[in-house]
Amino acid sequence: MSDCLFCKIVAGEIPSKKVYEDELCYAFYDIDPQAPTHFLVIPKAHIRSVSQVDQTNAAVVGHIFSVIARLSKELGLESYRVVSNIGDQAGQSVLHLHFHVLSGRDMTWPPG
Ligand code: AMP
Ligand code: ZN
Repeated sequence: MSDCLFCKIVAGEIPSKKVYEDELCYAFYDIDPQAPTHFLVIPKAHIRSVSQVDQTNAAVVGHIFSVIARLSKELGLESYRVVSNIGDQAGQSVLHLHFHVLSGRDMTWPPG
């Protein structure tokens, strides 16, 4: 999608600090980290949020979770949190599906 920030990052039009890339997904460090380790994993194809996941595109979500598991092992993360915000009230600021991976500090529950 031409006016989407994360589509522009996938296309290399906006710089990012890459963690991992394959044909289906892209992982990069968050520009405003909320934990000592904070990266995002996104599908290369534009999907607005979890609310737009259906039978036609769900495979990429499973793939992303396998990538998160592998990257977390490679980065030595023993404990981490995976978060996806959906909609305004939950705090979604970029309307391209993304999974935050946060690690390296104590976390509280419930989240704020
Ligand atoms: P959310 O608020 O859940 O939609 O998450 C969007 C995330 O994207 C926020 O944590 C931002 O800090 C992050 N973000 C915004 N712009 C960039 C960028 N250019 N590079 C890396 N992360 C970004
Ligand atoms: Zn997009």
